[in-house]
Amino acid sequence: MAAELIDGKKVAAVIREEVRNEVAAYRAAGLAPRLAVILAGDDPASVVYARSKEKACSNVGIDFELFTMPAATPEDEVVALVERLNRDPVVHGIMIELPLPKHIKKQRVLEAVRPDKDVDGVHPVNRGYILSGSDGLFPATPQSVIEIMLRSGIVIQGKHAVLVGRGETVGKPLVFMLLNKNATITICHTKTADLGYHTRQADILVAAVGRAGMITADMVKPGAVVVDAGINDAGGGGICGDVDFDAVREVAGAISPVPGGVGSLTTVLIQKNVLKAVRMQTGK
Ligand code: NAP
Repeated sequence: MAAELIDGKKVAAVIREEVRNEVAAYRAAGLAPRLAVILAGDDPASVVYARSKEKACSNVGIDFELFTMPAATPEDEVVALVERLNRDPVVHGIMIELPLPKHIKKQRVLEAVRPDKDVDGVHPVNRGYILSGSDGLFPATPQSVIEIMLRSGIVIQGKHAVLVGRGETVGKPLVFMLLNKNATITICHTKTADLGYHTRQADILVAAVGRAGMITADMVKPGAVVVDAGINDAGGGGICGDVDFDAVREVAGAISPVPGGVGSLTTVLIQKNVLKAVRMQTGK
């Protein structure tokens, strides 16, 4: 029997409605949640991402401001803008579009953002909060992996979760987020011996690699939950995940597709972070 489909678009629509209602309540109380995005340089993909965030924010009523800076802008000027936004009480969330121009030290700029405005969840303080199991602002994609399961009725507690990929964006933060949900975790990477042995032990298998179709049906335990966080170029302008979807859905118990899975939740979870940032900054 084919696996149950974990529908990211459906889950995202539910969260979007929650965000829209919460934003409306803030606005009714005279508080306008606001996201500022800094785009230094002219990377075409970053321009598209920034514009799509703008559209998504207007869709839920979050104020959005895009700060564009020429590619030759000195690092000190980018940091000065971040510091100005840090001090501005009407700005609740700050995001830096990556990649930054080569002469700018990414780490210096990311660490300049106030942790309670770091809605991308990349500041070392927020990374530390994930480790200690404290509350903070956490990155959207690993959060999406957790949310898509919980809101689809999948129990994480007590399950053996096997994670393929230990990247800074998805895999590494996800290790601790899954641990905080009381999963037992195995982490696999390029130096893992006999990857298939480990993936076949998984009750929950998460792929966060960036290699199309690398998780094949023989690597999956019958009935397992398979969550695909990978995004790969499928040619013709399309995308695909790390999982060989058609074959694996015949073995798995539940599976998230790409597109229409984890990636569908990321923008709305950034918006949830903006609302969390509002609470952290205003106590409201
Ligand atoms: P990354 O930093 O490049 O990390 C990739 C990880 O995969 C590394 O830990 C690497 O192992 C491991 N890996 C590569 N080939 C492998 C193999 N053959 N066997 C086992 N492990 C292997 O990637 P990332 O930034 O975390 O992103 C991971 C994926 O998520 C990408 O496809 C990315 O596009 C996608 N992503 C999706 C979203 C979304 O919204 N859905 C957002 C961000 C990223 P080593 O550590 O040993 O090198």
